[in-house]
Amino acid sequence: METTESKNFIEQEIDKDLREGVYDHVCTRFPPEPNGYLHIGHAKSILLNYGLAKKYNGEFHMRFDDTNPTKERMEFVESIKEDIKWLGADWEDHLYFASDYFEQMYECAVKLIKKGKAYVCDLTPDEIREYRGTLTEPGKESPYRNRSVEENLELFENMKNGVYKDGEKVLRAKIDMASPNINMRDPILYRVAHMTHHNTGDKWCIYPMYDFAHPIEDAVEKITHSICTLEFEDHRPLYDWVVRECEFDHGPRQIEFAKLYLTNVVTGKRYIKKLVEEGIVDGWDDPRLVSIAALRRRGFTPESIKMFVDLCGVSKAQSSVDYAMLEYCIREDLKLKRPRMMAVLDPVKLVIDNYPEGEVEYLEADNNLENPELGKRKVPFCRELYIEREDFMEEPPKKYFRLFPGNEVRLMNAYFVTCTGCEKDEDGNVTVVHCTYDPETKCGSGFTGRKVKGTIHWVPAPYAVEAKVRLYENLIDEEKGVYNKEDGSLNLNPNSLQTRKCFVEPNFQGAKAYDSFQFVRQGYFCVDARDSRPDALVFNRIVSLKSSFKLPK
Ligand code: ATP
Ligand code: MG
Repeated sequence: METTESKNFIEQEIDKDLREGVYDHVCTRFPPEPNGYLHIGHAKSILLNYGLAKKYNGEFHMRFDDTNPTKERMEFVESIKEDIKWLGADWEDHLYFASDYFEQMYECAVKLIKKGKAYVCDLTPDEIREYRGTLTEPGKESPYRNRSVEENLELFENMKNGVYKDGEKVLRAKIDMASPNINMRDPILYRVAHMTHHNTGDKWCIYPMYDFAHPIEDAVEKITHSICTLEFEDHRPLYDWVVRECEFDHGPRQIEFAKLYLTNVVTGKRYIKKLVEEGIVDGWDDPRLVSIAALRRRGFTPESIKMFVDLCGVSKAQSSVDYAMLEYCIREDLKLKRPRMMAVLDPVKLVIDNYPEGEVEYLEADNNLENPELGKRKVPFCRELYIEREDFMEEPPKKYFRLFPGNEVRLMNAYFVTCTGCEKDEDGNVTVVHCTYDPETKCGSGFTGRKVKGTIHWVPAPYAVEAKVRLYENLIDEEKGVYNKEDGSLNLNPNSLQTRKCFVEPNFQGAKAYDSFQFVRQGYFCVDARDSRPDALVFNRIVSLKSSFKLPK
């Protein structure tokens, strides 16, 4: 049988390069700047790069692009490593820091000066901007452009030795001020910045610019395919120029793909920082966010994220994906893997008046009807239970098949009960629902006498464990969209977090951080890693059970 496998455009390019002998192996990398937490978009890039390395039996490098000491911190290095490991991208012993190549970058700059391809420029930042021209007008050459090689070498050495103040001089590539591509109009390669770097300390007071550093990092590591997002497409001529002029053999090749965007979801660091600072969310891992740490805390699994990224595909066309697709993936992933247990989120008491007082029996329940491998458990059953308030109505509308006076329903994993009435407080709120049970109808007893239309879940009142649940909605008001048109602020949904007391069956005792469950008829929930304690469980709702989402064709 012939197997047909559809390949994305990057794989097609790699196949071509291998076929034509441009490269004889594949080496990819993920190059985050350690200036924040990773989000779902980064997960796409990580899994794409790692996946390609695996597929082609190549190497995957983890490299911190730490060439800008202003915004970088070690805290982020650690969180990024943790997130990438969790996603399952294994860099083995290929962990690198761009700052380890500062010496090589410096030598490359010297080489360019010697070749007459770089010069030290004294224009101020404002003047440089002015001289650069616009999309419609060519730039103007700097008056310092024609300094001699000797002079440039000496000035650059002075830059390195701390002779100049920040911003006083820069090293620029000598390319073409009339180029239609503004990136090629003598871009800055090095700037003076008297700053302490988290890795190299005070050794350097000049730092390379991204467009100069990045191709060198890739080339030094012998990366073959340098995969990045679309906004770098216009930088590719400069990338190629640096690789060529610095005379690397077998230089890497840059390929761009479209960023992953989620509709009505905030990913911008600036906005998330504000939400954290204003206490609207409880940190970078608040389960309403889509940082990898937040998704993990919410209860997403690496498998679900991988499935999501695969469904999104890789393309050059910018588009935005619905959050519902991510929810679809976690439901699919947990469906067969996790036990389905009973929890009542809005409890009202149900009393079975003909069930002997003080008696308890342990009824057997399947942990997951669709996956017998998860086994069975026992749930205590007795005269007083909790059920969901919405599963009883004194005066039901048509097609309501749950409890109402005179109606019979099945208690999941237990017996049929017939509602006989209810008690209410002064305000008319139902406080207790009454019913009788039919001992012949025990679940699993082989009883086939009658059919009932409704099945409801319950927990045994004296054995119930009190817990907290957090029900989430989108942080953003979806009607209004992410940003307020007037002042650019976020349109927040005031109901994005609802916290409730609930009762769960006793089998939840011992649940640990990140354990997840289906609460039958309610959704998937995960034990919160930060706030849950063995004697005070806290569950985050990962996702509800229902969805109108349809898998795209
Ligand atoms: P910022 O949001 O501050 O611009 P960044 O998200 O680009 O930063 P980097 O650390 O530079 O952060 O990103 C590391 C890698 O992740 C880059 O190769 C970048 O192209 C990729 N990446 C970033 N955002 C996305 C996204 N939304 N979808 C896919 N890849 C992304
Ligand atoms: Mg970036």
